[in-house]
Amino acid sequence: MSSATHQKLLSAVAAMIFAAGVFALLLPFVSELSSDYAYALESGADSGSEDETGTTFTRVSRDLVTPVVYIYDDNMFTDEYELIYEGVPGTIIRTYEYIGKNTALLIGGETIIEPVSKIVRTGTRRRLSVGVYAHPAKGIVTSTFGYRAVSIGSGNHKGWDISNAKGTPILAADGGTVLLAGVYEDYGGYGELVVIEHDNGDWTLYAHNSEILVEEGAIVAQGDEIAKMGSSGTASGIHLHFEYRPEGGSAANPDILFDAKDFTKE
Ligand SMILES: [Zn+2]
Repeated sequence: MSSATHQKLLSAVAAMIFAAGVFALLLPFVSELSSDYAYALESGADSGSEDETGTTFTRVSRDLVTPVVYIYDDNMFTDEYELIYEGVPGTIIRTYEYIGKNTALLIGGETIIEPVSKIVRTGTRRRLSVGVYAHPAKGIVTSTFGYRAVSIGSGNHKGWDISNAKGTPILAADGGTVLLAGVYEDYGGYGELVVIEHDNGDWTLYAHNSEILVEEGAIVAQGDEIAKMGSSGTASGIHLHFEYRPEGGSAANPDILFDAKDFTKE
């Protein structure tokens, strides 16, 4: 357990103890409020009669709960939940007074076992990705993945080339965070490059742009225009060089995302 997580757990436990304390302080007040409504007895059990009006009885209930305590984790999504501690319902003895046949009012309560809050870990990260990739540009797939005879660039083609007119919009294949936007020494031949990291850790790369429309760190949605098609870097002509890198590792064939035949210029 990291020290940050440990710290969070400690503060959660502190919050829990505090919540239980507040609840105990409020209990007489809560009981008083509750006495405004009548307690209808189930038929057969302890059925009262006119004669019993004014007498009291008690019920032991294991139904006291305190609010769920959430621990927030920056690496989890807002819709992810992990149960840390189940929590324990508190036990209370409630006292009722008959006010008529089969009808009693709650007149008091005594907590025997304090409730302990359920603890749940959840995230602060908003989901940015759809999870299914969309075409990054209109155009014709003029070069696919793998070894190829080339006069320019690498013999092992790490992506697809999608060709169209200069300035054709380059679109985020899925939502995510812009990791790179510009010209980078480590990506010499790529020219004006955009790299997006998606929610699942996968990267998509968009190279040879004529213009870049996003900045590093920007949040983009699927279909957002991130660049304009061009031939910057080491490019044989105007096209988008698109790469798919699962979990930011080595490039994989985009044919697991798209069918090249589905691409059209319009
Ligand atoms: Zn290429």
